[in-house]
Amino acid sequence: MTKEEMLEKFKSYNPAQDASVLERAYDFGAKAHAGQLRASGDPYFENHCMAVAEILLDHKLDIETVSAGLLHDILEDTKYNAADLEKNFGTTITHMVQGVTKISNLKFTSSDEETVENWRKMLVAVAQDVRVILVKLADRTHNMRTLQFLSDPALRKRKATETLNLYAPLAQRLGMFSVKNELEDLSFKHLYPDEYKRLVEQVEKRTKDREAALSSFREKLTEILTKEGVPFRLLSRAKNYYSIYRKMQKQDLTFMQIQDSLGVRIITQTVADCYRALGIVHSSFRPIAGSFTDYIAVPKANMYQSIHTTVVWETGDIVEIQIRTEEMHRINEYGIAAHWRYKTGANKSDKNFDEKINWLRQWIEWQQDLTAPREFLESFNTDIALQQVFVFTPRAEVKSLPEGSTPLDFAYSIHSDIGDKYWGAKVNNKMVRMDYVFKTGDICEIITRNNSGPKRDWLEFAKTSHARSRIRKMLRESGGA
Ligand code: MN
Repeated sequence: MTKEEMLEKFKSYNPAQDASVLERAYDFGAKAHAGQLRASGDPYFENHCMAVAEILLDHKLDIETVSAGLLHDILEDTKYNAADLEKNFGTTITHMVQGVTKISNLKFTSSDEETVENWRKMLVAVAQDVRVILVKLADRTHNMRTLQFLSDPALRKRKATETLNLYAPLAQRLGMFSVKNELEDLSFKHLYPDEYKRLVEQVEKRTKDREAALSSFREKLTEILTKEGVPFRLLSRAKNYYSIYRKMQKQDLTFMQIQDSLGVRIITQTVADCYRALGIVHSSFRPIAGSFTDYIAVPKANMYQSIHTTVVWETGDIVEIQIRTEEMHRINEYGIAAHWRYKTGANKSDKNFDEKINWLRQWIEWQQDLTAPREFLESFNTDIALQQVFVFTPRAEVKSLPEGSTPLDFAYSIHSDIGDKYWGAKVNNKMVRMDYVFKTGDICEIITRNNSGPKRDWLEFAKTSHARSRIRKMLRESGGA
């Protein structure tokens, strides 16, 4: 991408905005990195920094984020410092570059204690401006795309492991699925080259074998949706080799044993169109019982929205269908990055969005209470990596909790006081035991008593880090621990 192409790309989704800061960031970066080369032998700025900016432009991000992408290695690799950046580009862009630099210097493969401390620093940088992580993920994506140029195999392995264990899950938790899939597959390719190559061949072969069935299904689907007058476009589902590989590992299955379903996405204009399309699909094809999930009515915690259903096609093939609007599709693919698209002013706030990313801020806040590295790692694994369930209060407010959560977790998610005074819980109007595990859609009512209080055995039932750290704190204070 040349400077002119960059400006053109930005103008294509932001025609009215003055792009002079982007031009200045280009000139400044090109001059600062002049003469530096990458491991591939390419000029550093033109190859790497421009590629990072291009990934950010592909996500249609705002001008500050793209500028920070161009400048992200200035503090690390050139003679210029934060004061120089501040003078030329102001506080916001400078803070973003400082945040990215801080994260880049963190090592995640040392001792437990250091890893935890580094995670905390990273989350603090992210909490100050979430766009920092978007630049960092773009930086990591380009480094992974060009990982083969690093001559040290141990370093390649370390980078790929770190990407797989930390950056991909973070991208997933932020709802950035296209980034997550690419990071996973690039890591997989470098960590297990033989398995990767074999799986790619197997998937390609299977795709070819199923081409006829899929295209006849798509034809029929197009015909009936057109006839009913629903505006739509069809997309294929993106492949994620690493997730297939993980499924094989986890369930000890061969590739042939992995359920072999076709996938189609129906993208419509409005929510009403989604349900109309669903009605048409269910009345034209045989749905598989129990396969239907409505993530439009109840979105996932990472903002994902879509209707999922599975039907049987006349060839005997099973087809998984996802139905969503254009807007949902954009958010599903880009996650929190979708929020900064098409925005021109820095002051425009989106209350709905702020609520949605609240979990991140709240989660970071809860981490401040955790002192021991083991507790922190445990909470990362349960809160970030796990799937969510949705549980309702009797007043139909919804709480999202990690899978495996119990009534104590629910009580503490409402308020620390409610948790501390927990006496019992009713789920769907029946009293349940403390080890009850929620399913999405449960309605839970917590019963409190003033003379109740955290007991040692509560730690056996509470799963979320928030509940566990609060119980530990109360036990310590009461001398019970
Ligand atoms: Mn970089």
